Amino acid sequence: MKILVINSGSSSIKYQLINMEDESVLAKGLVERIGIEGSRLEQELSTGEEFEIKQDIPDHGVGMELVIDTLTDEDKGVISDVSEINAVGHRVVQGGDSFDKSVIVDEKVKKEIDRWASLAPLHNPANLMGIKVCEKLMPEATQVATFDSAFHQSMPEDVYMYALPYELYEKHSIRRYGAHGTSHKFVAEQAAKEMGKDIEDLKIITCHLGNGASVTAVKNGKSYDTSMGLTPLEGLVMGTRCGDIDPAIVPFVMEKEGLSPQEMDHLMNKESGFLGVSGISSDSRDIGEAASNGNKRAQLATNMFVYRVKKYIGSYVAAMNGVDAIVFTAGIGENAIDLRERICNDLDYLGIKVDSERNNVRAKITEINADDSKVKVFIIPTNEELVIARDTKLLMDN
Ligand code: ADP
Repeated sequence: MKILVINSGSSSIKYQLINMEDESVLAKGLVERIGIEGSRLEQELSTGEEFEIKQDIPDHGVGMELVIDTLTDEDKGVISDVSEINAVGHRVVQGGDSFDKSVIVDEKVKKEIDRWASLAPLHNPANLMGIKVCEKLMPEATQVATFDSAFHQSMPEDVYMYALPYELYEKHSIRRYGAHGTSHKFVAEQAAKEMGKDIEDLKIITCHLGNGASVTAVKNGKSYDTSMGLTPLEGLVMGTRCGDIDPAIVPFVMEKEGLSPQEMDHLMNKESGFLGVSGISSDSRDIGEAASNGNKRAQLATNMFVYRVKKYIGSYVAAMNGVDAIVFTAGIGENAIDLRERICNDLDYLGIKVDSERNNVRAKITEINADDSKVKVFIIPTNEELVIARDTKLLMDN
């Protein structure tokens, strides 16, 4: 069985073709700058061979056609006909409380994805467009939707509710939904495997630290709490997002700076975090370099990031009454050796101790705790595409 995994964004389509016999990636690629000048496709094969096609890609339909043409190309392709693709698994960002697992797409599912677009205005419409385009171009293939929010549907009511007037929840579905669920689920399951234990018997804290970042408390294999909320803005200090702030700041700044709701939203989502505090960049590598060159605001941004992650870890230990393992994943979590070490520093009261030498590694499954650490600490590279492909296969098999 061959499954195509699609992550359709507003101006891009990321894809992977996975052979489910051995879960190997036959080809992966990216179509970017859809609808704008300089649009292109780049693809990499399992052999490591890479190539690029530069052409006008006015919309997602043309982009997806180009993906299929490339996958079936006589020279560069990996399949001879599009009919070899049995199913397409789509990443969908927001499924609200309508979906607690992946589903086969039908008209009702598409309506729900559209309905939840109000909470993910940049993502859901683009995800839905990817689904519609694939339905048209691959009518024989089963389409499956995997939701970033699904894993967190297990959060208890007292964890997911905001202490706002209850009517706002009833009228507008305002509550916490979380994100990065596919990644948190994958790395938590992988950690349990590494420990040779049943995930049902474990308490795991997963730290997905990328440009967007979130921490999840995984209790007995289920998401118990996560740092992102109604939208991905809540929680950690991120590349350009502010994370937790006193909500009273919002009307205060709007009034003082004369900002509209949209402008305030932009300020908190796109102008804050690493970028806003440092004034340099949203990328942790740039911040790290500036910090080590003595830039005070870059140092402050990193210190704030580290402190916030540490604080969430501590609070989730309390929320679960313990922790068996902590997992680091995504761009920063997998690669930023110094930040990982600083996050885990001075947590020995909780039984968390990292071994500096073991921690001196990037992007591969590694146990980095010291021998006398009560809690296991892992680096586990995330693989959201594989989860989507596995879920898709499971639905096909059933
Ligand atoms: P997203 O998928 O949310 O866009 P990623 O998971 O790709 O983000 O993470 C991006 C972040 O990871 C950036 O802040 C980047 O600096 C950091 N990162 C990537 N590679 C490295 C590295 N080798 N060392 C340190 N940080 C890294």
